[in-house]
Order: sequence, then structure tokens, then C-alpha cells
Amino acid sequence: MNELMNQRVNELTDHLVAIRHDLHAHPQLAYKETYVAEVVCGELDRAGIAYQSGVATTGVVGWIGEGEGVALRADMDALPIAEQNDLPYVSQHPGCMHACGHDGHTTMLIGAAHVLAAMRDELPQPVKFIFQPAEEVEGGAQRMIEAGALDERIGPVKVTSIYGLHGAPQAPVGTVAGRAGAMMAATDHFDIRIAGKGGHAAFPHETIDPIACAAQLVTDLQSVVSQVVEPPEPAVLAITSFHAGNNYNVTPAEAALRGTARYVRDDAGAQLRQRLIDTADRTAVAAGCRAEVKWHSGYPVLNNDPAAFAVMNAAARAALGGEKFVEMPAPVMAAEDFAYYGHHARACFAFLGLRDPDRPDQADLHSPHFDFNDAAISHGVKLLCRLAMEIVCDK
Ligand SMILES: [Zn+2]
Ligand SMILES: [Zn+2]
Repeated sequence: MNELMNQRVNELTDHLVAIRHDLHAHPQLAYKETYVAEVVCGELDRAGIAYQSGVATTGVVGWIGEGEGVALRADMDALPIAEQNDLPYVSQHPGCMHACGHDGHTTMLIGAAHVLAAMRDELPQPVKFIFQPAEEVEGGAQRMIEAGALDERIGPVKVTSIYGLHGAPQAPVGTVAGRAGAMMAATDHFDIRIAGKGGHAAFPHETIDPIACAAQLVTDLQSVVSQVVEPPEPAVLAITSFHAGNNYNVTPAEAALRGTARYVRDDAGAQLRQRLIDTADRTAVAAGCRAEVKWHSGYPVLNNDPAAFAVMNAAARAALGGEKFVEMPAPVMAAEDFAYYGHHARACFAFLGLRDPDRPDQADLHSPHFDFNDAAISHGVKLLCRLAMEIVCDK
């Protein structure tokens, strides 16, 4: 089985690399992924796979078989970054590029669709192929779920387990990394407004300086994490923006801070939020100011189901070889909207190695110099195909 599958993947590789370069040259932002969706639909047509397009705006869901089954997911959106690569397939859309490798993810899922369609009589379960929009900013996964991507509203397959891969430039090509339980952080954002009393900077006794108060607050917020989570549980609270005033001689009436909170235990978010509000109130009152906090909840914690993780581990070993699966000792504090799928099905996400040993200067994700490593495509396709062949066991 493995040998035949690998042979099919190897035969497809040139075609897939051409698709990846085409997608890289035509990047599109969240919910505007029309070009990518058209390429996906064309390839599913070629593979003889039924599908529905226009799901959650630009998403595409394909399926083989009917009943309870497995889903494989790829994201399609690009980032508002001006590409600085010198490539024959450099972005044709100024200010927009595939800097997170979603061109590679889409390509690998197209590859898996071709291989699994050719083996449809040997599949142990129905398979759904989920090509989702808007991973980067808008939580397209959530909208795909609401639209019915995981149930029989779209295709006659009810998804009971789901897998996704993300390219990782830190890990060598041919390796896969993951962990059971929390693997990626929840991410919330917040705005803090400090209101004081503006006036002439020459008469500070007649103003209430919001800048001094906000500066003190930045310092005070540094201890919020240590007050909420117990070591060694990871959490981050970072102030990423500080704006106030625009003159040499005017004390402004307000200062505005922004930041992000990251955590890996679901209820830590509410605790961090409350502690941040309490700290902002206390610091503002001490300075004679008022604090207003707006908290925006983002993607939830990405938790890998232990049984689905066991499948990922076994599939990675079968597809790529024994020592190629690395168990991560701790979660990473980046976020992924794949997390939402885990609220509805047994889900496992993993990192697929992209590091080329001959390119020590290889760029990181979200860099204007990033380019998905084509050498990883066949590994990803093999792994996705193996995942579709495994059934999650309860114990
Ligand atoms: Zn990204
Ligand atoms: Zn990404």
C-alpha cells in the first residue's frame, strides 16, 4: 500500500510544484482567495472528486464516499506583505504574498486529493478535503464550520476526525513535529485608553498627565502573567503599541496602549483579562486618571486530541520513517484557527519541516523573504494520505 501510494505521490510531484509556484505568484488576502479556489476546483474536477465551492465565501469542500469520516484541511489566504524575493514565480500582486506557506498547504492537499481519488476503492473511510479561506486574520475555520463543512450540509460525510499541517522553517525537511494536548496558544488582543487632563506643558500642576500614567501601567502589566499562571505554564502579555500626544509643549488628554495576550489553558484568558483590568484601574486611579479596557477574544487554544495525535504520530512514522517524528516539549505561542475544528471533531495539527540544510539564511514565516520549500511537498502529501488511511481508535 505504502509503496504504491509513494509512487503515485512521486509521479505527481512536478505537477504539484508547478501548482505551488502558480499559487505563490497569485496570492490573495482573506475571503478574496478566488484564484486559489478556482485552481482547487479545477484540480478536484480532474481528480473526479465531488465538491462544493463558495463555502464561507471562497472556501471549497471536496469529498469521497459517505458516512462518518476523516477530514484533511488546508488554508488558502496570503498576507499583506510586499514580497522581497527574486523568484521566477514572485508575487504578481503588489503588497500581497504567501509569506506563511499557505500556497504549499493548498498544494499538498490538492496532491492528497489526487492520490486518494485514485485509491478510492481501498479507502477505509470517507474523506473530506477542506480548503478554507482567511486563516490569518478572520478565523475562516469558524465560518467553514458554521457553513456545514464538518457535517452533511456540505457533502455526505460527517467529520469525526480532522488533521492539518503547517510548514515550519525551523524543522528539517522530512520531519514532523507535534504534541498531544495544547500545541498552540489562544490569542486575544486588547486596547487600553488612559484618560487624564490635557493642557499646557509649562503648567503641569494644572494637567493630569496620561503619558506618565500609561508608562507606569506598562511596567505594572509586566507582572500580570506571573500573578495568573503557575510556572511552568506558558503565557504572554505584550504591549505592542503606545500612542500619546503630538506636540513639544502640550500635555495630551489621553494615551492609548495596545497589546496581545497568549495562553494555553482555556480559562487563563478570562483571568488575564480580569487582572489586566484591575491593574489598569489601580494604576489609573493612583495617577488621577481613568482607564478603559477593551478586550477582543481571538483564536482559542489549539488542543490536539490524544487519540488523533496517536494517529498523527503513527502516520508520520509510516509515511516518513521512524525517527522523523519529533514530540514537542512545549506549546508554541503562535495561534491557528485550526483550533476551532477541535471543538467539533477529534483534531490533530502538526508542523511539517521546511528547513533546507543548504540554506542557512532561510527566512521565517511572515518574512518578506519567505518561500515554501518545494522539497517538503511530497512529504506532506504522503503524510496527509496516510492520515486518511488511519481510523482513530478510542483507547
Ligand atoms: Zn501566518
Ligand atoms: Zn499560516
